[in-house]
Amino acid sequence: MAGKKINLTDQLKKYFGFDTFKGNQEAIIQNLLAGNDTFVLMPTGGGKSLCYQLPSLMMEGTGVVISPLIALMKNQVDAMRNFSEEDGIAHFINSSLNKGAIDQVKSDILSGKTKLLYVAPESLTKEENVEFLKTVTISFYAVDEAHCISEWGHDFRPEYRRIRPIINEIGKAPVIALTATATPKVQHDIQKNLGMVDAEVFKSSFNRPNLYYEVRPKTNNVDRDIIKFIKNNQEKSGIIYCLSRKKVEELAEILQANGINARAYHAGMDSATRTQNQDDFLMEKIDVIVATIAFGMGIDKPDVRFVIHYDIPKSLEGYYQETGRAGRDGGEGQCITFYTNKDLQKLEKFMQGKPVAEQEIGKQLLLETAAYAESSVCRRKTLLHYFGEEYMEENCGNCDNCLNPKKQVEAQELLCTV
Ligand code: ADP
Ligand code: MG
Repeated sequence: MAGKKINLTDQLKKYFGFDTFKGNQEAIIQNLLAGNDTFVLMPTGGGKSLCYQLPSLMMEGTGVVISPLIALMKNQVDAMRNFSEEDGIAHFINSSLNKGAIDQVKSDILSGKTKLLYVAPESLTKEENVEFLKTVTISFYAVDEAHCISEWGHDFRPEYRRIRPIINEIGKAPVIALTATATPKVQHDIQKNLGMVDAEVFKSSFNRPNLYYEVRPKTNNVDRDIIKFIKNNQEKSGIIYCLSRKKVEELAEILQANGINARAYHAGMDSATRTQNQDDFLMEKIDVIVATIAFGMGIDKPDVRFVIHYDIPKSLEGYYQETGRAGRDGGEGQCITFYTNKDLQKLEKFMQGKPVAEQEIGKQLLLETAAYAESSVCRRKTLLHYFGEEYMEENCGNCDNCLNPKKQVEAQELLCTV
């Protein structure tokens, strides 16, 4: 049946109620259904989950999804159950389940009810789970958040590097790896480690045209500058990222003292207060959340109107992910970073005490961020270049360097007078 392809749009409508595919979804799904290894690079919110959810429903057996966070797993399983009458359609196995619950999961899988099984890598590599999975018909393996494989990614997890050997042990099936991290280094690491250098690669554009990028000099008046910015953006939701927990708390207090409805969020706070602050932000009871980068992973608030970096981010990758939380709905998203090269030394100091190799990587990533901050080239162009993407427009019309190219002129003038 050369060239005959299943009509996926009907299946999409039937199972998920959507009329059309987003971006590359259809081609990705066709490739996986054809039994090929598949590599998906798509920004956050692009619709990666559907690329394995839909095929799992159409293929024989159970798709195994490897995912790093229990909270993400639970959300996804709940979402799948919403689309189906059958609760057993999707399950997860992780450390939060007791023996009885795990037995139920296993019995659903063996009965053929379960089309998707989410596992954390720590659970996948457990001997008893490996032995069990050997007895299961596996349709494919999906490695979600696949950048966790790479030390050059923003969330390296050593146990992710054991996935390939375990897959070989359990039994081979096509692998689909998915990530929103698209730097060429990370991409290469993932493909090499998962043994899928020949996989078909589907890469979407990482451009976020609605985001405005600006880097401002960080002076002693940075707090005042931020207060002014927020007062000019009344009632808009915003996130302010600081590097240290101490700064998070200080700044939240300063903002509150200035009549701004702000709260703090960092991993050192007691979990009740932290969750409360997060929920209040999501429910719009507060406008501004001052946070460390612990805040944001898996949080989907569509109308965040600004993201401020109080300190230079640790990597351009992190910068892209964090600023990416603005303007999810396609509306305005102002991304303001305060930069001084003094912060570089502070950050390098933070890294001391870590293993040398890790320090080297950390320094390299930091230098790339500093180069971005100091550059007078279009921010969008630099950022996309970092992701291996060429931005062709002369002027993006939505970053400080394009809207106000004064620095560049000055630099040229300076050169002429030398
Ligand atoms: P990612 O993992 O790439 O960040 P998700 O898989 O979480 O993105 O999807 C983001 C949102 O897009 C979800 O709310 C999902 O239901 C929605 N979505 C995915 N595919 C489609 C589609 N074809 N049509 C409409 N909405 C979609
Ligand atoms: Mg995802």
